[in-house]
Amino acid sequence: MNNDDATTSFAICDLFTSVQGEGAQVGKPFVFLRFWGCPLACPWCDEPKHRNPHTRRVLTLNTLLDTLEQHTPGLNHILLTGGEPLAANYLDILVKHLKKRNKWIAMETSGIGGPIPDAIDWLTLSPKTPLPHFPLERANEVKFILGAETDPIQEAWIDWWMMRHPCVWLQPRWQGTLFPTVAANRCYQKVLASQGRLRLSLQIHKWLNIP
Ligand code: SF4
Repeated sequence: MNNDDATTSFAICDLFTSVQGEGAQVGKPFVFLRFWGCPLACPWCDEPKHRNPHTRRVLTLNTLLDTLEQHTPGLNHILLTGGEPLAANYLDILVKHLKKRNKWIAMETSGIGGPIPDAIDWLTLSPKTPLPHFPLERANEVKFILGAETDPIQEAWIDWWMMRHPCVWLQPRWQGTLFPTVAANRCYQKVLASQGRLRLSLQIHKWLNIP
């Protein structure tokens, strides 16, 4: 670690161990590192911690690496999420040091922010805006969160992605602790009509009431 690395810091809002509840990595335990802040402001965002000033903690690179190491010793799967991890300054430096510690790194992103570090092992792209220049091959899976109301703009993005990417998930947006029946039915109907191009994701952590 050099001096620059020692003064590098990261704004985070949560760090916890749980089981991945959605997408192709479902069921695997991860240490979840949630970054504070996001350049987007989706009106239905279900991650309020990332913009609450009281949840913001700034950790130096050293402290963050030590905290991750001690959090769940022996668990080498790390999931970077947010907020927006791609918007974190020095993400590439953090990823480099995590790889030196033999971590397997997953990241969930809206695709808006800085460049994607090469060493990310698994990338979940959850588009919230058009991303015409996003390198399709870089996303291991693509996920859309559907609400109860039909959204023609989002429908067009889903159609675009499902014709170009082999792993596109539809996931209903929960409203608090209530199962989103209408949104789930929208996802179900679209998956059925997709000729096998779309998959249904139902967030098992919500059912288990775990983070
Ligand atoms: S991109 Fe994600 S974290 Fe950012 S505002 Fe939208 S839903 Fe929230």
